[in-house]
Amino acid sequence: MKTRTYVALMLTVILILSVGLTALYVHMEQKTTDKEDATVSIVTSFYPLYTLALNLTKDVQEVQVVNMSEPQTGCLHDYQMTPEDMRLLSTADIFLVNGGGIESFLPDVQEEYTDLNIITATSKLDLISEEDDHSLNAHAWMSVTNYRMMVQYVAEELAKVDSDHAKEYMANAQVYDTKLAQLSLTEEQLKKQLNEARVPVVIFHEAFAYLANELGWDVKYCLDLDEERQLSAGEVAETLDMIHGTGTRFILAEATYGSDMGKTAEEETNAIVFYLNPLTRAGDYEGDPADYYLVEMQKNLQLIIQEVNE
Ligand SMILES: [Zn+2]
Repeated sequence: MKTRTYVALMLTVILILSVGLTALYVHMEQKTTDKEDATVSIVTSFYPLYTLALNLTKDVQEVQVVNMSEPQTGCLHDYQMTPEDMRLLSTADIFLVNGGGIESFLPDVQEEYTDLNIITATSKLDLISEEDDHSLNAHAWMSVTNYRMMVQYVAEELAKVDSDHAKEYMANAQVYDTKLAQLSLTEEQLKKQLNEARVPVVIFHEAFAYLANELGWDVKYCLDLDEERQLSAGEVAETLDMIHGTGTRFILAEATYGSDMGKTAEEETNAIVFYLNPLTRAGDYEGDPADYYLVEMQKNLQLIIQEVNE
């Protein structure tokens, strides 16, 4: 073989090899990109929905759930999205929200991210309407019955948006509901032990109206202390009058904001104050985020059961 023919042959081999390798490389690149594209990104607006979504997406491949940065204190009302939240939403496929007006930033999100699938967990529920200003009480997750309905509804909506994983979402909803049914049993147990219908109660946080309703209790008055604020002497006097005048037995309060008024109420009246978790934030919870609702709601109920047993 002449040297020139040999060189030409070698060059051809190298050319074929490199073209082949490039094609292979491009093919592999495309595969990874396709895989990234296949990932469904779900962003949740706050903790009760984060927990819910984690349960529905358990062991579902190529689906990720991220919670928005949570407010440092109190409920989500008046929460302003951070630049990080905005970035997160710009890459999201699904935004899972509670609804009922608690996400005050929602209209802006709808305007900004027109392709975003927004699932509103409470959209099939009858929310409590506040007497004074007819606004909606959005804290529906505080009723186990409502929360179980939210789980079912969100699973159905996820199955519609991401039909590839429809069966898995529905199966996970079933598994989660079986666990939540235990909470419903605890509620039944509590009702039986109390053996009293329409227990008169006062609540120091709107959220507890749902728990009270669920237990069949009669909410006589709501002093909304879901954030740090100074109570006027008039408010304190009115609240104490309501507790006395309605024969209130229990007060449902959040320790963070309700303990000052709680102390006053226990000194001045015969009512018992229960400090409960409205489940709005992770706070110092350090367990598995997917078990947050199960663990913390069980704690709420056990606290009441213990007192009732004494
Ligand atoms: Zn709230």
